[in-house]
Amino acid sequence: MERADDVTENDDRRQSRHRVVIVGGGFGGVQAAKALRHADVDVTVVDRTNHHLFQPLLYQVATGILSPGLIAPALRRVLKKQRNARTLLAEVGDIDLENKIVHASAPDGQHVALPYDTLIVAGGATHAYFGHPEWAEHAPGMKTIEDARLLRSRILGAYELAEVATDPAEQRAYMTFVVVGAGPTGVEVAGQLSELAHHVLPKEYRTIDTRQARIILLDGAPAVLPPFAARLQRYTKRTLEKKGVEIRLDTMATDMDADSITVKGPQGEERIVARTKVWAAGVQASPLAETLAKATGTEVDGAGRLAVDPDCSLPGRRDVYAIGDMVSTIDHLPGVAQVAMQQGTYVGKLVAARAAGDDTTPAPFRYFDKGSMATIGAREAVADVRGLKFTGILGYLLWCYVHVMFLIGWGNRLGTLFNWVRSLRYARFRGHRLISVTASYDEDVTDEHHNLHEPAEHRSHVDPRARPADGRDRPSQQERSAAS
Ligand SMILES: Cc1cc2nc3c(=O)[nH]c(=O)nc-3n(C[C@H](O)[C@H](O)[C@H](O)COP(=O)(O)OP(=O)(O)OC[C@H]3O[C@@H](n4cnc5c(N)ncnc54)[C@H](O)[C@@H]3O)c2cc1C
Repeated sequence: MERADDVTENDDRRQSRHRVVIVGGGFGGVQAAKALRHADVDVTVVDRTNHHLFQPLLYQVATGILSPGLIAPALRRVLKKQRNARTLLAEVGDIDLENKIVHASAPDGQHVALPYDTLIVAGGATHAYFGHPEWAEHAPGMKTIEDARLLRSRILGAYELAEVATDPAEQRAYMTFVVVGAGPTGVEVAGQLSELAHHVLPKEYRTIDTRQARIILLDGAPAVLPPFAARLQRYTKRTLEKKGVEIRLDTMATDMDADSITVKGPQGEERIVARTKVWAAGVQASPLAETLAKATGTEVDGAGRLAVDPDCSLPGRRDVYAIGDMVSTIDHLPGVAQVAMQQGTYVGKLVAARAAGDDTTPAPFRYFDKGSMATIGAREAVADVRGLKFTGILGYLLWCYVHVMFLIGWGNRLGTLFNWVRSLRYARFRGHRLISVTASYDEDVTDEHHNLHEPAEHRSHVDPRARPADGRDRPSQQERSAAS
């Protein structure tokens, strides 16, 4: 990283107080910052984006239900009232544990050096293409707002191109959608693709019949929603099938290009002509996990996650903590928002206590599993809340309540509710359908974050919330949670 224009953030004003640098303003990072609000410390949250992203609703941006702004409030606004916290827009590239400095790069290339007394790293995770980074171009996943907008352009653009096409085979190619990974995200996307094809779009096209769209959901596991209870899995499969979704289980993607995807399942290998593929499978921890592992002489696991001590600190260091999707714990917690949030609160409180002079050994972090849920379509969802199982409209209302309450800001909550009511009540209305078709095919979605180190033999289709891409082929008991 270039360090010519160093901007060292060590002005006198900030030198006297304990400095806490938090890398990542996602679920874990924001909760850690909030838990430090009454502490006598200076908090700096550094993120490469200017917003706090509510990833569970990305699929609604990708399918035109919500606008990006509703699920991605500015980070600066989220922390506006917290006087001891500030936010910086910069991408962290290196962490110097010896000299206690985080090195980042601002969008214009300026080098930003952030000295700290305590460091909390919450860099999250990204997609894993199981040793095939080139698939990212053909089957984008959803991790960022840009990803969701790209998918929206591809999905809605496919219908536009089908309407223009004169060759029926060409039309079919555009109107075939394949979702890889039948975890909660894959199920939610497939459900919405069906809603678009059968309820939203039919009356709007003159040449094509959108109800003829083929939607295929595939997974290497023998059931949809692998981490959920069998009854909820059966309900989900039945409901999706009623909505016209073709479900292929025990089936894995073996190859793909712009026009097709090749899959291998119980019936052997098949090439499916499909222009639109969606990746809802494995995840890989932020590269920052590896940076920290190297600096401490430890190793990351198959999903690139860093092992942390029971108090979320790095082994042998009480000044550096890592939380959320980028870490692994001995109890194999799932990569879900609740884990990241609870770890953020735990570490924030711990650091506040330390800064106040409390040097006692903290009790280890304990995860409180609040349950799992996923939507299947309008008015249909499954939820497992502390052993109680909900399906249909009840599950859907519960899902709505939980998700809207976890959004940040009343404006975003009300805006989201308004859009949901509109999309349910008035012909499944989709109000956010701005697309850029050419750009969506030109865009190079294969970047350094679409890695990855995953060996091909670990290939299986998993949802970020179901299983990390670490080669374990069945979810553990703890991974049965995807509390939203
Ligand atoms: C499509 C989708 C749907 C999901 N649905 C659910 C759900 O329904 N329920 C649920 O519980 N969980 C869900 N999850 C999982 C949940 O979103 C994650 O577990 C959670 O976001 C993890 O929080 P985190 O703080 O570890 O990381 P994140 O929330 O991802 O935050 C990481 C932050 O770090 C920043 N960052 C990364 N690298 C750098 C860098 N080098 N420099 C500066 N900043 C950096 C990123 O910009 C980001 O803001 C879903 C995930 C996805 C992708």
